[in-house]
Amino acid sequence: MKVKCIECDCEFDAPKDVIKGEVLTCPDCGLELEVVNINSDPLEVKKAQVAGEDWGE
Ligand SMILES: [Zn+2]
Repeated sequence: MKVKCIECDCEFDAPKDVIKGEVLTCPDCGLELEVVNINSDPLEVKKAQVAGEDWGE
């Protein structure tokens, strides 16, 4: 299965056992992508929330 980075548009292979909610790192730009739908091709991803950046809430 393929993943397409939402930041730099590069495509890379997802692990075969990828699960919804898994966070993959783009090999090109390093962005962390959270898998939100494994039934699409390429996989549907969104930018992962990085813990520790939301100070105060
Ligand atoms: Zn990227």
